Amino acid sequence: MNIILLGPPGAGKGTQARILMEQRDMIQLSTGDMLREARSSGTEMGKVVADVMDSGALVTDEIVIGLIREKLEGDKKGGFIFDGFPRTLAQADALEGLLSDMGETLDAVIELRVRDEALVDRIVHRATCGNCGEVYHDKTKPIPADGKCSVCGGTEFKRRADDNEESLKTRLMEYYKKTSPLLGYYHAKKKLQRVDGLAEMHVVKAAIGAILDA
Ligand code: AMP
Repeated sequence: MNIILLGPPGAGKGTQARILMEQRDMIQLSTGDMLREARSSGTEMGKVVADVMDSGALVTDEIVIGLIREKLEGDKKGGFIFDGFPRTLAQADALEGLLSDMGETLDAVIELRVRDEALVDRIVHRATCGNCGEVYHDKTKPIPADGKCSVCGGTEFKRRADDNEESLKTRLMEYYKKTSPLLGYYHAKKKLQRVDGLAEMHVVKAAIGAILDA
């Protein structure tokens, strides 16, 4: 089963992708994570995209499609969860081509709906465990008082350079201009399903589970 999690920054795509990986042995393909990894390992491509990412703008279709193409060549396990990809119609077309070349199909596109005001709060207070990626929030789920991740015991926590109000404005504008047209595109293909991304995490998880089991 191959699915796309679609939604604005901070909608909870990464959190839900992690749950699906654990529960259904699926593989999370997050272009954001791949780009951040390229940056921190100092590759040429990482250097090229760093400023674009910090500004909140999208990097080129060519780069992200190349990253996804590489990952699709690996193990498929229980299927792929595309998280943060596709973000443009050109990327959506490329994905369709790549999947069809592999004899695979796209089973569902799940939109996590969250209103903008909630996104700002989620993003500017977000921190993640540097080891396992568990997501924390300064107000609703603070980093444990002993300074250890509740999942893996890791002691390093990261805040993203683009998790600030200024970048978020650009990220949201990019979402509405370039990514939100995908909602109509996948609706027309009868793939789109909607979930309330503001509900409690376990409720969102159950709603996604019900869609995938249907
Ligand atoms: P994310 O972790 O998904 O929020 O992505 C962080 C940043 O990486 C975005 O703001 C973009 O600059 C870049 N990025 C991630 N995925 C894509 C994509 N599919 N297309 C273009 N840029 C992307």
